[in-house]
Amino acid sequence: MIEGLDTLKQWVEESNNIVFFGGAGVSTESGIPDFRSVDGLYHQKYDYPPETILSHTFFMRKTSEFYKFYKDKLLLEGAKPNAAHLKLAELEEMGKLKAVITQNIDGLHQLAGSKEVLELHGSVQRNNCMKCGKFYDFQEVKERVEKASELNPKDKDYMVPKCDCGATIKPDVVLYEEGLDDNVITKSIRYISNADMLIIGGTSLVVYPAAGLIHYYHGRKLVLVNLSPTAQDSSADLIVRGKIGEVFSQL
Ligand code: NAD
Repeated sequence: MIEGLDTLKQWVEESNNIVFFGGAGVSTESGIPDFRSVDGLYHQKYDYPPETILSHTFFMRKTSEFYKFYKDKLLLEGAKPNAAHLKLAELEEMGKLKAVITQNIDGLHQLAGSKEVLELHGSVQRNNCMKCGKFYDFQEVKERVEKASELNPKDKDYMVPKCDCGATIKPDVVLYEEGLDDNVITKSIRYISNADMLIIGGTSLVVYPAAGLIHYYHGRKLVLVNLSPTAQDSSADLIVRGKIGEVFSQL
């Protein structure tokens, strides 16, 4: 029996205005690696740390290197929602959960059926040409990355997806050094400040400004469901240490 699970269950039953705030750990059970777990991206071998590769400067200067990493680690086809994504969608359908606020860019909450999903860091499902603005979905970008991988690896456009107009396509993902969408932030603050229960899961809570949003919660049911300790454990009313998919499948 996972410690704290009974209390979590009881609080979910009692609450009607739950907000979920999550991160990469929500999708590890779907096969997408996070950054900071032992088998996460920080512990894999790359020429640069993920935070450097996923920065605006790096994207502009070393686009081909960026897309090599992006294709291997973030453009993952076939990942399916796990029990955590599915339970959150179910709680929303029941009218108990009002919003999912996520730092993830994988689109799995929507695939699970969640409607009100606030993507703080954008999504790999949306992409635009940097010159003419033309929209490309996940599949189209994946195909263009694959086509560009036929180039010589030394070519500056190796693996770089190109628009029909010839310019580079950029994912609608908030890179390090880029600002978050004001509208998404305002809505997130509104949901969190009105929530009667805030469940935070699968996040190390070290990426700002996203992690700072949880301070807008003023209730007494702040729950952290995470495998390892986080930067905010001392603020929690309840800590459930476990795999989020396993925990949520028992709610
Ligand atoms: P993080 O890697 O910093 O932290 C993940 C946390 O989740 C860790 O504390 C880890 O112990 C925990 N965790 C891992 N698997 C878990 C599980 N099954 N159940 C419960 N907890 C689990 O992730 P972060 O805080 O989201 O910050 C990383 C940044 O990287 C975010 O901005 C995010 O946008 C981005 N990112 C996104 C994805 C994705 O879209 N799936 C993947 C990797 C990174």
